[in-house]
Amino acid sequence: MTAPSTSPDPSVHDAPYDLVGIGIGPFNLSLAALADSVPGFRSLFLDAKPAFSWHPGLLMEGTTLQVPFLADLVTMADPTSPWSYLNYLRHHERMFKFFFSERFHIPRREYDHYCRWVAERLPSCHFDAHVTALEWDEAAEAFAVVHRSAAGEQTRVLARQVVLGVGTDPVVPEPLRPLLTETHAGRVLHSADYRTHRARLGAASDVTVIGAGQSGAEVALDLLRHQDGDGEGGPYVRWLARTTAFAPMEYSKIGLEHFTPDYIRYFRALPEATRERLIEEQWQLYKGVSEETLGEIHDELYERTIGGGEPRAALHPGVEIVSAEPDGADGYVLTCRHGQEESLFEFRTSAIVSATGYAARRPDFLDTLDGLVDWDGKGRYQVDGDYRVALDPRVSGALYVQNAEMHTHGVSAPDLTLGAWRAAAILNAAAGRTVLPVAPRQAFTTFGAPQDAASVPERTVAAAAAPAATAVSGPAEIRR
Ligand SMILES: Cc1cc2nc3c(=O)[nH]c(=O)nc-3n(C[C@H](O)[C@H](O)[C@H](O)COP(=O)(O)OP(=O)(O)OC[C@H]3O[C@@H](n4cnc5c(N)ncnc54)[C@H](O)[C@@H]3O)c2cc1C
Repeated sequence: MTAPSTSPDPSVHDAPYDLVGIGIGPFNLSLAALADSVPGFRSLFLDAKPAFSWHPGLLMEGTTLQVPFLADLVTMADPTSPWSYLNYLRHHERMFKFFFSERFHIPRREYDHYCRWVAERLPSCHFDAHVTALEWDEAAEAFAVVHRSAAGEQTRVLARQVVLGVGTDPVVPEPLRPLLTETHAGRVLHSADYRTHRARLGAASDVTVIGAGQSGAEVALDLLRHQDGDGEGGPYVRWLARTTAFAPMEYSKIGLEHFTPDYIRYFRALPEATRERLIEEQWQLYKGVSEETLGEIHDELYERTIGGGEPRAALHPGVEIVSAEPDGADGYVLTCRHGQEESLFEFRTSAIVSATGYAARRPDFLDTLDGLVDWDGKGRYQVDGDYRVALDPRVSGALYVQNAEMHTHGVSAPDLTLGAWRAAAILNAAAGRTVLPVAPRQAFTTFGAPQDAASVPERTVAAAAAPAATAVSGPAEIRR
């Protein structure tokens, strides 16, 4: 069952690491930072990039993290860690500046800089290490992680346990995919690349932004700000959304309790069909736009109407792209369907930014482990309470995932709020002991039926409900 080695002449490090993390985004970096304080625990974290960077295509000035700074890499699990955001500030002698700024939501560019500060100092973090294969080495009873540098140097390390933290991939609607070629570069793109092409888009005559999430809103706002106060200059901005409204993200204190360990525990125990329905229904917990950004867009548009002006912008919710064709003059004709009116319409635009989100993917390097991962019926990981992926029982090592478990753990999977908590849970499981206590109960809300209430047998409920139901007159369907 050992998968064939793909490394012709790898330099082999014999002693297995306790843990190897693949990918150094915020989630595995959090794990690296927490593991750093565990004596004798040998860990290594690998990333393909030359250095840490966090969503560089969307690091616009003025954008902020959407969670409080306390959701840094460590604080929610270990506020005494030297890798906290506050210690980063102290190190950079910026404590007073931060104190007087009185902000809970720090600039996104600063979060990136903070993470880079941590990644550069942790001896376990290695960049320019693209993982190309993950194998189970039966003889060594360990995973073999094969990685390659940009210069082509190949290395093979052994690990008793592996954590996947490879993030997600940009998603583009089907009609736009044929346009994602060199010919259309800088004119048709995913928002993940926005900053690279920002100057060109800002100078275009007409830009269409697709997607009513935070990224779509930030791109639309940024383009509006390319117009001057009278709306002159800069592009005409068209913002389209498939959702029926440009809706705010849920930010109420009680609503945010969906991002607690309590909710994860409740969600995991639900039947699969219920979990899938909930994820669809709860889109406003993870897909909407911050109220502040919506307000800023409104403010920009309002400015344009002072003195009887018309904003050079249009906002269209409830609209889906049907097709996108080059118009032969450096632009595109977009055909759209209005869902509620069931009508089609088309318009011309000179550039398209698809801010249509990201999705978890199965990394190529898992091909060498295929047959040993016990995928669910839909080809997804089966993930337990310790974030361990179900594997063939012949594999004695453990494989964990971060940010690929929304289907089993709920909407908090991609959210930074629970990042340190989840990393601590994985660290405890990987170390085989409680290195950091993780409190399971944190919310005021009781998500399931109350544990201390007397349970009522189902048939009692049915009997009690029957007379009332028959007493109701009206359409038959209300007695379902
Ligand atoms: C623009 C943007 C802003 C966001 N802002 C917030 C926010 O304010 N609050 C919030 O809660 N959430 C936010 N999120 C959601 C989420 O927190 C982030 O997407 C976060 O970066 C996810 O972290 P990650 O560690 O899973 O993956 P990533 O940050 O994507 O990192 C994955 C890493 O894996 C590496 N990798 C992949 N494959 C390999 C391989 N084969 N070998 C080696 N390395 C590999 C990549 O190079 C990459 O560095 C935001 C998302 C986006 C897109």
